[in-house]
Amino acid sequence: MLVIDSTYPAKDFNQRNGEAVRQVVVHYTAAPFASSLRTLTQQGVSAHYLLPDPHEASYRSAGYDELRVFQLVDERQRAWHAGASHWAGRDNVNSRSIGIEIVNLARDEGGVFTFPAYDPQQIAVLIALLRDICARHPQIGATDIVGHSDVAFWRKSDPGPRLPWHGLFEAGIGAWFDAQAKSAYERRFRMGLPQEVEVERAFQRYGYAPAKNRQAFQQRLRAFQMHFRPADYRGQLDIETCAILYALNEKYTSAGE
Ligand SMILES: [Zn+2]
Repeated sequence: MLVIDSTYPAKDFNQRNGEAVRQVVVHYTAAPFASSLRTLTQQGVSAHYLLPDPHEASYRSAGYDELRVFQLVDERQRAWHAGASHWAGRDNVNSRSIGIEIVNLARDEGGVFTFPAYDPQQIAVLIALLRDICARHPQIGATDIVGHSDVAFWRKSDPGPRLPWHGLFEAGIGAWFDAQAKSAYERRFRMGLPQEVEVERAFQRYGYAPAKNRQAFQQRLRAFQMHFRPADYRGQLDIETCAILYALNEKYTSAGE
């Protein structure tokens, strides 16, 4: 099921300097397999894993038909995939994360995004790969399996709202809220949303970076919604989004309130 191919090592990576792996960051490439492979092995960025799309033309013409995962950087080394980023109280996620790039031809045309669906085979392989990673790094917690937009919401939109985080959770990977807790918070917040200073604190408690201004506050809401409420990711503060955030904190940070 999980075939890992190490044919194409990246050139750009360095030492973790003793940092343990704490997070997994999921990305989309926004480019076909062939050019993604070139970029990630030869151009100053890299990732530990590249997961192709089995139906994408450049993967077929590279001679592959079965879906395999390409390991470009050893997990003991640091790859250059997250850039300026923050999670769980610390900046620069690269030094303690594993990066997975998924081939997906998402487009950003002047801020207007097109997010194609992921192939079901990609998701099956992603689940197998994440299980494999988590078994080898048991210190990675449920809330530490994140998207690039979670750790860099002020500049990134990947892996986008089509990544089925709830499906991953049902397969035992990553975090999801408890539906009853969400309903209870929704009832409470119908009487009035928490103050923004409280919402700010709740986001940081879960792991997100502080929002430096109003625009960042909305970008972070959008990133959170793409992950946990993909039906509407306009970045508006609403009852359901607040309820999900509080339900997550109650479940995972033992500091919900
Ligand atoms: Zn990315």
